[in-house]
Amino acid sequence: MRLVVVGCAGSFAGPDSAASSYLVQAEDETGRTWSVLLDLGNGALGPLQRVVDPATVDAVALSHLHADHVADLAGLDVVRRYRPAGPCTTPVPLHGPEGTAARLAQLNGDEDTSAVAEQFDVRTWQPGVAVRVGPLELVPVPVEHPLPAFGVRVTGPAEDDPARRVTLAYTGDTDECGGLDVLAAGVDLLLSEAAFVEGRDDAVRGVHLTGRRAGEVAARAAVRRLVLTHLPAWNDPAVTRAEARAVYDGPLDVARAGDVFAL
Ligand SMILES: [Zn+2]
Ligand SMILES: [Zn+2]
Repeated sequence: MRLVVVGCAGSFAGPDSAASSYLVQAEDETGRTWSVLLDLGNGALGPLQRVVDPATVDAVALSHLHADHVADLAGLDVVRRYRPAGPCTTPVPLHGPEGTAARLAQLNGDEDTSAVAEQFDVRTWQPGVAVRVGPLELVPVPVEHPLPAFGVRVTGPAEDDPARRVTLAYTGDTDECGGLDVLAAGVDLLLSEAAFVEGRDDAVRGVHLTGRRAGEVAARAAVRRLVLTHLPAWNDPAVTRAEARAVYDGPLDVARAGDVFAL
């Protein structure tokens, strides 16, 4: 299983990255590659095309419905509907919070969700209930943000030994909460947002993590590797990294667009 950073800019697209989108890929026992998108924020459909044909993505999983995590679903709808090869005939599973279909209809300027259903099989997350996509299993865990939000645990075959199962957890957007500890517990890789900065935004609660808070979660949950992401363009990645480094001593990275992490 591998994680491709399609877009990692926090809250809005930055000069070097689209907004939030991550592609998880793994092969099944026949060698077929399965692809799951975690979020599809503004701009992300562009760089996604360097990695995979967007029309062939097997499922889309949304953490929450803020624009920086869902805006390019409108573009994915266009690709699937109007590609020269003809429209995709099987709707792609789209997992998200309550209101996902209405949000996509709104992006498309539609009055209702009937057109959405032609290209997307929208399914509402049930907390803790696993969803299977080929060799991958996704488990949504409610987290803390100003609107309904989920982190997602993804379990699949290890790259070096497909018989071994590995797990990554993606926080989506969240502050510290009980759900976040459940989400992160013992994972091989924690892809954690760290949009806030200590001394600047840390007094605001219920919205985002700082680098330090992300590091504390990683240490508490004994995660094997921490990748910080969702930094707005005005943040200094070195500062965020140092915040986490002070409290977490495992392998640590700040995500950049195009990064690939093999698990
Ligand atoms: Zn966000
Ligand atoms: Zn958000």
